[in-house]
Amino acid sequence: MADMTRASKNNFEELQFLREIALTLACSEDSQLLLNNLKSIFEKYLSVNNFQIFIKDDSTNVLRDFVKDWITVEKNQQHELVENIFQRLKNIRDNGFILNNKLIKYNEKKTPLFEHNIKEEQNLLYFPVFNEKNTIGIIEINFNSIEKEIDTLTFLTVLRIAAAQINTAIVNKILNRKLCVQIKFQKVMKSIAKLIENQFELNYILPIIGELIDGFVTEHLIYIFVKDEKDNYKLFWPLDCQDSSILSLLPKITNKKTCVISKDGKTGLFALKNDDKITGVIAASSNIDRLSKTDIDYLVQLSLQASVTTQRANSYAQVLKYATLDALTGLNNRRQFEMRLKQEVANALRNKKPLCCIMLDIDYFKHVNDTWGHSAGDCVLKSVARIVSHELREYDIASRYGGEEFCILLPDTKINEAAFVAQRLRKAVEKSDINISQEGLAGEVLNVTISVGVSEFDEAFSEPQRLHQSADVALYEAKHRGRNRVVVYDESLE
Ligand code: GH3
Ligand code: MG
Ligand code: MG
Repeated sequence: MADMTRASKNNFEELQFLREIALTLACSEDSQLLLNNLKSIFEKYLSVNNFQIFIKDDSTNVLRDFVKDWITVEKNQQHELVENIFQRLKNIRDNGFILNNKLIKYNEKKTPLFEHNIKEEQNLLYFPVFNEKNTIGIIEINFNSIEKEIDTLTFLTVLRIAAAQINTAIVNKILNRKLCVQIKFQKVMKSIAKLIENQFELNYILPIIGELIDGFVTEHLIYIFVKDEKDNYKLFWPLDCQDSSILSLLPKITNKKTCVISKDGKTGLFALKNDDKITGVIAASSNIDRLSKTDIDYLVQLSLQASVTTQRANSYAQVLKYATLDALTGLNNRRQFEMRLKQEVANALRNKKPLCCIMLDIDYFKHVNDTWGHSAGDCVLKSVARIVSHELREYDIASRYGGEEFCILLPDTKINEAAFVAQRLRKAVEKSDINISQEGLAGEVLNVTISVGVSEFDEAFSEPQRLHQSADVALYEAKHRGRNRVVVYDESLE
C-alpha cells in the first residue's frame, strides 16, 4: 500500500513536471526566458548548476550559444568537449542521451549505469537537438546528485518526453529566427528597389543603401566605395574607413570576380556594376566574426539590387537632364519654357510681331490636396493642363511653370486677344467637372477655378523674363481681387 502511494505520488510529480515544461514552451517567446524557465523547472527535480543549448551553425560549422547566438563555443573553451558530445549524439536523434560521458539509449531498458551515474555529485546530461534531417545541436544540463528515489524506467520515459518537447520548441524558434531574417532581408531588398521612386541623385541614394544594408548585416560594418573618373575607388559612405584589409582587397574585384572574401573570412567585397562596368564596391567587415555562407549569399543579392537601383537612378537622371516635358502634365517643363521664351522674344523683335503671356494659378489648390489627398491633387493638375491645352491654338506654347502654375506664350497675339483667350480658359476650367474617381474615391467630382494674369511684350523690356514677370504681377492682382478672374497687366499694378 505504501509503495502504491509512493508510486502514484511520483507519477503525479512526473506529470506535473511534463505539464510545466509544456506550458513553459508554449509561453516563452524569448529564448533567454525559455532557457531560464526550463532551468527552474529542472531545478525543482534536479539541482541544476548550468543549463545551456548549443546549435551548430550550418554555414560555418561551429557550435554556437542558442540564446546569444553570436557567441561561438570556441570562445568558451569548451569546444572539444561539446564538439565531441555533438559528434557522439549525431546519429542518435531521439533515441538517447549522454549522461556523464556514457551514451544511454532509450531502448536499453535496464540501464544500471544510469542509476549509478546519477548518484554522482556532479552530473552532466546532454540531449541531442534535431530537425527532420539532421542533428543540429545539444542541450547541456549540469546538475547535482539527486536525493529523490527515482525509478529508472519512468525517469527515462519522462526525460524522453521532455526532451522531445524541448527539441520541437528549439527547432521552431530556429526556423522562426531564419524566417524573421528572411523577412527583414526582403524588406531591405524592397526598400533599395523603391529608392528610385522619388530620388535619382546617387549622393542621396547611396548613403541610404549603406544604412539599409548596415542595419541588416548587424555583425559587420558596411562601407560603400565608388569609382571616380580616373577609375580609382573613393570611399563614399560612411566618412571614414580605417580597415586596411578592405583597401588591399579592392583591386581584386574584377568583372569576372564580383565577390571577394578575405583569407580569414571576416571581410567581404561585393561589386556594384553598371552594365558590364564595375562602378563601386560594397564592403562588409568585422574584427571578430567571419562572414557566414548565408551572410555572403544575402550580401551578393543586396549588392545586385543596389547595382540595379543605382544604374536606374543614373539613367533616369540622364533622361531628366535632357527632358523637355513635365512628367505629370505632359506640358513643357520650366527649363523648356525658359528656352522658348528667349526664342519667341527674339522672333517677335525680329518680325515686329506682338507676343503675349498668360500666367495662371489654380485657386485654393492646397485645399484640394489637404481634403482629397495628393494623388487627387495630381489628377486636378493633369485635368487643368488638358483643359488649357484644348483651348489653345497649335502654336501657343503652354508650360507647367511650377507646382500649380502654368505659363502660356501666345506668339503673334495682341493683348486684347490674349485677354479674350484668358477669359476662355478661366471659364473652361470653371465649368469642368474634374473626375478624381480613378484615385480610389468612387464617383468623386471636383470643381476648381483659376486666377489669370496677362501681359504683352514691350520693346522697352530690358530682358525676356520681364514678359512673364509682368503676367505674374497681374496674376497676383487677380488673386488679390478675389480669385477666379482675369487681370491684364498695367504699369500701375507694380
Ligand atoms: P491660392 O489660391 O492663393 O493660389 O492658394 P493655393 O492653395 O492654390 O496656393 P499655395 O501656393 O498656398 O499652394 C499650392 C499648393 O500646391 C502647395 C503644394 O503642396 C501644391 N503642389 C505643388 N506641386 C504639386 C504637385 O505636383 N502635385 C500636387 N498634388 N500638389 C502640388
Ligand atoms: Mg494656387
Ligand atoms: Mg501657386
